[in-house]
Amino acid sequence: METRAYLGGCLCGNIRFKATGTPGNPHTCSCENCQRHSGAQTLCWVEFPRDVVEWTGEGGMPAVYRSSDYSSRSFCPKCGSTLGAVDDEPVIALVTGSFDEQDVEELRPLSHSFEDVHPSWWKIPAAS
Ligand SMILES: [Zn+2]
Ligand SMILES: [Zn+2]
Repeated sequence: METRAYLGGCLCGNIRFKATGTPGNPHTCSCENCQRHSGAQTLCWVEFPRDVVEWTGEGGMPAVYRSSDYSSRSFCPKCGSTLGAVDDEPVIALVTGSFDEQDVEELRPLSHSFEDVHPSWWKIPAAS
């Protein structure tokens, strides 16, 4: 299979990433951490092994905030953009809104975590 590269970054361009391979676990999440971290009621996520994600922007790695026992949230220290989460496990989760190319089937969420705590009027259609 062809190895694909996914490019993205923050609002100001200080933090840029290049991830290669296949995005894992595409999902939406409405947990309180995601809501507070982003200011949005739902975030869209994919995961990559840590060793296939390169931080290619001038700012290098994003800043992190320790948000739980197993994970830190990452963001741009210049513009504050939400970028994802860095787990203690060798996984980097990226929010899909930060990807340069949006109309990509592999970024389509296939499940919704913490669906029970998002507002009832906020409808996310299940993937078919
Ligand atoms: Zn930035
Ligand atoms: Zn969440």
